[in-house]
Amino acid sequence: MTVYSTIPSTPSEKIMQTSTVSKMSVAFALLIAPAGAFASQPLVSDEFKMIFRVGNATVPSGYTLPTNVLDYPKHVDIGFPVVNEGGVLEFEPHWHNETDSVEYEPGEAHGSVTYTRNRPVGAMWDFIGVGSGNSFFNLRSSPPDLSNQHLYLGWATEESQDQLSSFDVWNPGDARANTPGQWTRLQLNSVTGPDGSAAPGVFSMWQTNDDLSLTVWMTSNDGVSAADALFVDGAVHTHKAVGFSAAGIYELNFQASTVLIPEPATLGAMMLGAGVLLRRVRREKSRG
Ligand SMILES: [Zn+2]
Repeated sequence: MTVYSTIPSTPSEKIMQTSTVSKMSVAFALLIAPAGAFASQPLVSDEFKMIFRVGNATVPSGYTLPTNVLDYPKHVDIGFPVVNEGGVLEFEPHWHNETDSVEYEPGEAHGSVTYTRNRPVGAMWDFIGVGSGNSFFNLRSSPPDLSNQHLYLGWATEESQDQLSSFDVWNPGDARANTPGQWTRLQLNSVTGPDGSAAPGVFSMWQTNDDLSLTVWMTSNDGVSAADALFVDGAVHTHKAVGFSAAGIYELNFQASTVLIPEPATLGAMMLGAGVLLRRVRREKSRG
């Protein structure tokens, strides 16, 4: 930085100086590029709340259940796509009622869960939060029929399709998602009862694989941690099994995230920032 200790004073020299600073800004930006300018950019949603009424639970007085009821035999997805909102990429979490082609804000609808089945035997099922053979509330991953009358609940990023060119390729490094891909992570932040009160039971989400092994994506049976997350690669529409261990009103708080490729505008801003930094250094030198 000693190059700035001699400040030119004639107008022509000032023009040269500006040009030099400009070139230096570019050089400086390129110099720091590996550390910042070209690094991938995490995109994280605000926390959003999806409410489920399980077992026709009594609604506490003073509590307002979101109006629209999503129940059997509807096909409903919880969407958490990235959309372009006036030039800004952002998550747009919502309920997507595929049956009626209607979308709702998270706070405009609630899921209704009344279908029950008995928990299979085996410790691998403990995450559901009830004992072997005991009944729990369930949304199956297969479509409902007359003997399985459940809301058909899915999880979708398919509306991210138009923004996928902005998605970076990364590896979550999670045992359940351990390959490079355009991943979106749906993190379960907390499970509570109405207005943040104690949860009435355990919420869980899982899938049964072709080899009959289980992949547990989320369970509040052992508390909620970073491990309680669903990963989907690209613009996806998928259905998983869901469990609630007891009747009640559940507030599920989620947060979606992905990683974006830095945009040219962002690079430009960072280079401008580097230029400002250099000019500030020079000004301080000239003062001293
Ligand atoms: Zn679906």
